[in-house]
Amino acid sequence: MLGSLHFPLANLERRAVEGSIDYEQVGLRVGLEVHQQLLTEQKMFCRCPAGLYTEHHDGIVLRHMRPTLSELGEYDGTALMEFKTKKNIVYLLHKSNVCTYEMDDTPPFIVNRRAIDIAIEHCLMLGCDVVDEVHIARKQYLDGSIPTGFQRTAIVGVNGRLPFRGRQLTVIQVSVEEDSCREVRDRGHLAVWRTDRLGMPLIETVTGPELRTPEEVEEAILLIGRVGRSTGHVRVGMGASRQDVNVSVRGGQRVEIKGVPQASRARQLVHSEALRQVELLRLRDELHRRGFQRPSDIDMEHIDITTLVTDFRLDSLRRENWERFVEAEEMRPGMELAEGPFSVRAIRLPGLAGTVGRASQPGRTFAHELAGRVRVIATLDQPPILLHSDDWPEYPQAGEELKEIRQAASCTPDDALVVVWGVESDTVTAAEEIQLRYADATEGVPHETRQALPDGCTDFERILPGPDRMYPDTDSPPRLVSRARVDRLRVDLPEPPWGRQA
Ligand SMILES: [Zn+2]
Repeated sequence: MLGSLHFPLANLERRAVEGSIDYEQVGLRVGLEVHQQLLTEQKMFCRCPAGLYTEHHDGIVLRHMRPTLSELGEYDGTALMEFKTKKNIVYLLHKSNVCTYEMDDTPPFIVNRRAIDIAIEHCLMLGCDVVDEVHIARKQYLDGSIPTGFQRTAIVGVNGRLPFRGRQLTVIQVSVEEDSCREVRDRGHLAVWRTDRLGMPLIETVTGPELRTPEEVEEAILLIGRVGRSTGHVRVGMGASRQDVNVSVRGGQRVEIKGVPQASRARQLVHSEALRQVELLRLRDELHRRGFQRPSDIDMEHIDITTLVTDFRLDSLRRENWERFVEAEEMRPGMELAEGPFSVRAIRLPGLAGTVGRASQPGRTFAHELAGRVRVIATLDQPPILLHSDDWPEYPQAGEELKEIRQAASCTPDDALVVVWGVESDTVTAAEEIQLRYADATEGVPHETRQALPDGCTDFERILPGPDRMYPDTDSPPRLVSRARVDRLRVDLPEPPWGRQA
């Protein structure tokens, strides 16, 4: 019997929307950022070998990220979000494939000439104008995937186009940039990264937001991949090519689905995201109708109910259950786990009854939006991450136990109730994040990056960085690109895929 009192995501998924959708009517727009690793012997800014992967390490580095004020005296939203997660970031090093450059202890060497040549070839294949000078810039990355907190990147070509379904698909730009670390583990407050891939050169091809259906997205990814491979100078195989897919609907917001591994996966992901944005816009209208016009209109109160629920039938909320989870996951205090006592927290959301269980993606509800923020930012990750009053688990005494919690939290029938559990300080962060997610909902679709899930849905990954995330790299001189060099590369170009097809 007790086993049935665990509530994996099923309890959140009951109010499924399968949802068909008219992409033209909702104004679906999709653009791509296709990344392909380049077949060079060395990394981009140091002399370490590229493509030498190791599964063991002989050194580790522990880092903590801290936000600093920008020159305008403001904190970047993404930086603050990463700081709130209080992550211990561990890098695994092997002397065969990483040096002090990647760990930010040595300035960059001159940029890999071969990498620039391959990027120029790719630009020419896509009909881009090639730049006269390559200017290295830094692009902020604060998730720990790059130890320096930024990626070195440079635009090589702009204004390209490629024939696509009887029209021209715009290539906004092609850049050459450093690859990031490989994630080994990300649990609680600990993230572990392997550094072998870090610093390998890749090209990023950015298209205009001109794709109109999931089928077009899949086809465009395949086409750009073929262009890259036709030169024979990009890497192939698992992980050598990854794409970010930028999706929006009319009235929505650009949302970036990160690291889509295969073109075929993009189709369902784009569909789910389109549906999600349509549903979030409906939720915004409902919030406005209830008088929540602005982010500051969302209220929240939370209280500790650990003692109240000690003898509840609902064992998701029991300390022993959480301790078993912590032990099974081998979570260590000071590493994966924050220090502090176990706590169960009830969060009252005035006037929001019925909104937590509203539809979002196929088979998911707004509760998933809340759970995503709680998992990533408060790092509470014991399934089902949270419970809520719109869809309380069913078991004997469910009604009485929910009533007791609602009473303790002073809920009126109009209020929504969410319950989270874990280390006390994390549950407080969770309550604040739930309020912030609702605050975003009053404006529609938040600007964020989302990770691709195997079932074709997405989950929150991070807040999208602001427009100031790029700035000049003062460590690298500009590199001239002579016309003679471009012409020499042009001579040896293969025929593009559409030429062969014709
Ligand atoms: Zn190196």
